[in-house]
Amino acid sequence: MRGREPTKVMQSSRPACCALVVWICIACGCELMIMAGQPVQERPLVIAHRGASGYVPEHTLAGVAVAVAQGADFVEPDVVLSKDGTPIVLHDIYLDTVTNVREVFPQRARSDQRYYAIDFTLEEIKQLRVHERIDVRTGRRVYPQRFPRKETDLRVPTLAEWIEMLQGLNQSMGRHAGIYPEIKNPAWHRQHNLDISTVVLSTLSRYGYRDRRAPCYLQCFDAAELRRLRNELQTDLRLVQLFSEDAWRAKDGQWDEERMKNDLAACAEYCAGIGVDLRLLVNVDAEGRAVANSVVAEAHRLGLVVHAYTFRRDALPEFAVSFDELVRLFVQDVKVDGLFTDFPDVTNEILLRLLP
Ligand code: CA
Repeated sequence: MRGREPTKVMQSSRPACCALVVWICIACGCELMIMAGQPVQERPLVIAHRGASGYVPEHTLAGVAVAVAQGADFVEPDVVLSKDGTPIVLHDIYLDTVTNVREVFPQRARSDQRYYAIDFTLEEIKQLRVHERIDVRTGRRVYPQRFPRKETDLRVPTLAEWIEMLQGLNQSMGRHAGIYPEIKNPAWHRQHNLDISTVVLSTLSRYGYRDRRAPCYLQCFDAAELRRLRNELQTDLRLVQLFSEDAWRAKDGQWDEERMKNDLAACAEYCAGIGVDLRLLVNVDAEGRAVANSVVAEAHRLGLVVHAYTFRRDALPEFAVSFDELVRLFVQDVKVDGLFTDFPDVTNEILLRLLP
């Protein structure tokens, strides 16, 4: 269940180069083994974070379309369940951060004034319109430069609808974009007598994502649930353990190397890779410069791929001077295997410049 996966995508010019080298080798009578020593030009995966969410409200079908059109290698849907157990594509267990639920169902908030997806049937959720993410405390948009908050007929898709859009575009555009679903909050669903993992696996299987050869990574923050997926539910899909910003760094900034190594060793028992906050992969020195730390090397030593989140052109981490430099740092110095980004096109352009 372990081992580094051959998921990197070759540059588009590589097949032609390979053919030429093979032709020259044959013409010159060279041993083809000569190619084994050639550096393989690979580039990290571009993973469209909640779709092309820098351009289109997150997790909408339009966002999938833009992501595939912009050349994303994988597109990410976060998944929660409706009251009637349908998997829907939504980042939060709440509906109020990205839909007009407050206007359509004003009486349906819980005592904390929040609107929970699990309290609404699919038929009710389908009545809602999706807008750009807002801060529910202030009502302000989280990313003011993004898609305007207008009455646009964007809806919350089911996971099935979302996959059908992805697979349809793969066919019509001749693409091979993969799916990178995240199971959100399995414990919360269990409290409501719903088993989200079983439902998600069933939907993925229905659309052909059944084993590690499928273009699919299945991610979750909950380590116990990932072990359950592997051992009890016996999925052979590639699993990714997520780690948040504070995973190995205490509030005072103290780094816990031993805990990091123990966590990664545990992951290697059931995962193909890790998905980590990009801040976990660098140390920032006194001058504010970010330098790669030991996490990626340790993960690679254990056979785990490393996919970092989130690369946003309009919300840079404090240590980054530009988006170009941020991507360069994580590709060339940190050496990640994939980048979750809200901007697949710009990220692709930078990668092509760095790794022509
Ligand atoms: Ca996610």
